[in-house]
Amino acid sequence: APRIGPVLEVNGIVKKFGGFTAVDKVSLDVHSGQIHALIGPNGAGKTTTFNLISGMFQPDQGSVRLSQKDISGLPPHKISENGLARSFQITNLHEGVSIYENLRLSVQAKHPGRFNIWRDIDSYEAVHGETAELAKFLGLEGIEDIMGGDLSYGGQRLVDLGIALASKPQILLLDEPLAGLAAAERERVTSLVRRMAENIPVLIVEHDLDRVLSLSHQVTVMNQGEVLMSGSPAEVRAHSKVQEIYTGS
Ligand code: ADP
Repeated sequence: APRIGPVLEVNGIVKKFGGFTAVDKVSLDVHSGQIHALIGPNGAGKTTTFNLISGMFQPDQGSVRLSQKDISGLPPHKISENGLARSFQITNLHEGVSIYENLRLSVQAKHPGRFNIWRDIDSYEAVHGETAELAKFLGLEGIEDIMGGDLSYGGQRLVDLGIALASKPQILLLDEPLAGLAAAERERVTSLVRRMAENIPVLIVEHDLDRVLSLSHQVTVMNQGEVLMSGSPAEVRAHSKVQEIYTGS
């Protein structure tokens, strides 16, 4: 079979804030079918790395490629148009409309028939079908009429992830998807991330170390702006320096 390159290639990116180097020559590859975890203690540079990949910050050095296209330096909306979706807190969700509307708006925004949707009954039906399918995939079927703002925090996370998914991205960046969730909700979101990753590669930052290591295929460990190591979850667990930076011993 032909060798397929990484979906996302981050190559030696650097970000300085004044004289302080927050991200120092960080490289990582995310391959299709994979969940890639970016871990490290507070202040390691994970969020800044996400901001560099998604265009919130421009790298001072290095490049970011999405399906071989250089996207470094593009503004966030252009990077998103190129197929990178990011789910961060619950920023994608509209609280004042139903779950169904939240999902439908996102499905419609990417639908080929979107420019004549109200005249074209086939497009309308297709968007409805995709929306219903998405609600089912998220485990939200039967409660689509609930307002976004009336959902539990965990439910809002699921909708937010669904909105990201509806844009049919080439890659998903997940920023602490489990933060603030109760145990049952963590299970639901973990299971959803696993199922999403079957179709769309995922780059995830998550503090719950045990859970993120059991979820991911590939791990990049950052410390003080640099990549300390990258490898399989088993290699990360076995690495003495990783334990050191987490326990501070
Ligand atoms: P992490 O997400 O791993 O906790 P961050 O990427 O948020 O780490 O931060 C890395 C370092 O960069 C920290 O020391 C932080 O204080 C610093 N930093 C982050 N953003 C800025 C900024 N806008 N200006 C100055 N320093 C920043």
